[in-house]
Amino acid sequence: MIEVIDIHVYYGDSYILQGVSLHVKEGEIACLLGRNGAGKTTTMKSIMGYNPPARGSIRFDGQDVTEQPVYEKVRRGMGYVPEDRRIFPNLTVVENLEVARLPGRSGQTAWNKERIFSTFPILVKLRDHKGAELSGGEQQILALARALMGNPRILLLDEPCEGLAPIIVENLGEIITSLKAEVPILMTEQNAHFALNISDRGYVIDKGRVRYEGTAADLVKNKEVQQRYLAV
Ligand code: ATP
Repeated sequence: MIEVIDIHVYYGDSYILQGVSLHVKEGEIACLLGRNGAGKTTTMKSIMGYNPPARGSIRFDGQDVTEQPVYEKVRRGMGYVPEDRRIFPNLTVVENLEVARLPGRSGQTAWNKERIFSTFPILVKLRDHKGAELSGGEQQILALARALMGNPRILLLDEPCEGLAPIIVENLGEIITSLKAEVPILMTEQNAHFALNISDRGYVIDKGRVRYEGTAADLVKNKEVQQRYLAV
């Protein structure tokens, strides 16, 4: 579905991603775990095209998309929920959803407002509220719903539980799990416990390199990797 092959990314003279490879298959959730500053967000932004790799490649649905701009990747079906969510503060919930709408894709049940409201009932009573009036948890749900309005073929979620209360995290975990049969997911997280609970496979990144990859079950058991790279 998506394949990231040996990408190298710089911010100015800083060599940030030093050869990151990963993939996500149909029907699975994969997570990219790592401490603050390990390179998770940079990996996501690079996959989306905000800071394209200096070397390496990104393949999506069998095609090389490395050089494609963000809007083209979104049009092709890459849905992205950034760490800071980027909800439009002056637009209502309904308007935030409407601006993100893209046509449905063949072989998929299309997402529209009705389907969003039945999947995320919390948004129904908020439909006419401005983005700025929403709590952090509500904004995260709206950001996820907005990404779904683009009828994505893959979802990239950057630290979805950051700043959320535990009860909301639990609910978000259930929502993300319920989506994976329909759309594969790549998620970054500092919260390894949350991510491994709902992921099939995991990657551990540190100082811009993938240090470990394996099934979520193996990662849960691997205390050495957790202590060395995840501080859990
Ligand atoms: P976090 O949990 O803080 O988001 P992260 O794993 O997502 O951590 P990144 O944001 O990808 O980490 O940052 C990786 C490295 O790149 C860090 O050393 C960071 O200081 C550096 N970095 C990030 N953004 C920039 C930028 N715009 N210019 C220069 N350096 C940056």
